[in-house]
Amino acid sequence: MKCIKCGKEMEKGYLSSPKHIMWTKEKCKYSCHAFEDGDNVKILPISMFKIQSVESYICKDCHVVVTNYES
Ligand SMILES: [Zn+2]
Repeated sequence: MKCIKCGKEMEKGYLSSPKHIMWTKEKCKYSCHAFEDGDNVKILPISMFKIQSVESYICKDCHVVVTNYES
């Protein structure tokens, strides 16, 4: 995976969270009603029992993360 900014090879790893992660079109300020809007994308689901992870690539020079979400 090449970095979209500098073109160098990105480092493979995982994006991990004990809570869900959403991509939203608008910035959430206080509570986020992300599940109620069809434009939003769930990157990581909520899990009560374990930390969720998804394969991800990082360029530490450009501070860019590229993630393949599954949902
Ligand atoms: Zn880069």
